[in-house]
Order: sequence, then structure tokens, then C-alpha cells
Amino acid sequence: MKPLHIVHLYPREMNLYGDTGNRLILEKRMEWRGLQYKVTLVSVEDEIPHSADILIGGGGQDASQGSIESDFLKKKQVMQKLVDSGTVMLMVCGMYQLMGRRFVTSEGVEIEGLDILPLETRAESGRLIGNITVDVDGITVVGYENHSGRTYLDPGAMPLGTVIRGKGNNDSEMKEGCRFGNVFGTYMHGPVLAKNPEFADLLISLALKKSGLNPVLKQLDDSLELRAQEIASQRPR
Ligand code: GLN
Repeated sequence: MKPLHIVHLYPREMNLYGDTGNRLILEKRMEWRGLQYKVTLVSVEDEIPHSADILIGGGGQDASQGSIESDFLKKKQVMQKLVDSGTVMLMVCGMYQLMGRRFVTSEGVEIEGLDILPLETRAESGRLIGNITVDVDGITVVGYENHSGRTYLDPGAMPLGTVIRGKGNNDSEMKEGCRFGNVFGTYMHGPVLAKNPEFADLLISLALKKSGLNPVLKQLDDSLELRAQEIASQRPR
């Protein structure tokens, strides 16, 4: 089997609340099933490999987002190609915002995004902080959000899911994240894949399918992960 190529974008610069854990979880869930993978870490000035099957990016403070802005814009063309060819992407919080048109910080600084996801973000007063539970196409996903940015999807754009508890994209819509083809943008940290094995497997399965491999995954014993999910969903906001 051709190994799935996992690419982790800005692992040092964009790694709030353990988002790097998402990579470890993808690796483990593949290893436990005997599936082959390789990993490339991409930082400022590194090339994004065209062979990426799954690409992940994490959250970051406004300053970190500003520090990668110009480098990320240089990577727009290859990112667009990867999106068009069905590469699976999980972009969390800061990186989710930068996949849209722009993020305007509370200081009024505009950080330009790739304009690939149909959305934009602006900081508004007060941060949206706390545990969050989201229904993603019938799958329950729990996470933790902490952001000043409020994200507004363009008309017709698809949210990732519906907020059951918490805020998600903004204060009023009860919608979380954005789904655009195989791109998943979300405000959920955690790392989000740790307590959400079904969501992790959805990403792996889509990436296998995109690479022409068998997308049907061997069942794992997820009792611990699901127990963690249940406990997280009962914690106070
Ligand atoms: N700096 C961004 C905001 O506050 C993103 C924060 C994050 O990645 N948690 O909205």
C-alpha cells in the first residue's frame, strides 16, 4: 500500500491547546490498523509537498497568525491545488480563519487569508471561551474554543456542524466551522481528534478514498475515547 502522506503545517508556530495532538491521533489510528503513513512537517519557508493526502493546521494567537501571514500567502497556489484535488484538511481556529478571506484583529489589523474557504472573520468584544459540543452530520464532536474572532460564512457556504452547546463561529448563529469539499475548518481544540474517534476516522477514510485506497476501516476499541467524550460533554462550559 502507498503510505498516506500526512502534512502538518506550522507545527511550531500554530499549536494552541495541543493541536499537534491531532497529528499523533491520526498516526496512532493508522498504526493500530496496520496502515502505512509518512509525515512531513512544514514550517515557514518550507515547501508543501504536492503529494499531501491529509493536511492539518492548528490554532494560534493573533501575533502568531501575523507572523506566518506572508509565508502562508506564498503557499496559496499549492494549497488551492491540494483543495481542488480533494486533499483532506483539518484546519483549527487560527488556521481555519486564515483559510478564509481575512481576519481583522481587535487592534484593527487585517491579516490576509488564502480566500479558499468562503468566509471571513473579525474580532468582536469579549472572547468566546469554553467547552463546546457540535453535531457534525449526526456525529457528536466535543472540543474547547477560545477565540476573539467571529466567523461569518458567505451565503450558501456549509458549516461543519450545528452547535449543541457553546458558540462556534459567532455569537448568534449556533453554527460551527465550515465544510468545503474535503476541507474541515473548526474552532474546536482539544486536540479535537482525541475525544472524537469517529471524526478522526472520517478524515482517514476520506483520505484513503482520495488516494484510491480502500476507505473501509477496521473497527477499533474506542471505549476510552468515547468515555472521555462523554465526560467532556458534561463539563461546565
Ligand atoms: N487569534 C485568533 C482569535 O483569537 C485565533 C485563536 C485560536 O487559534 N485559538 O480569534
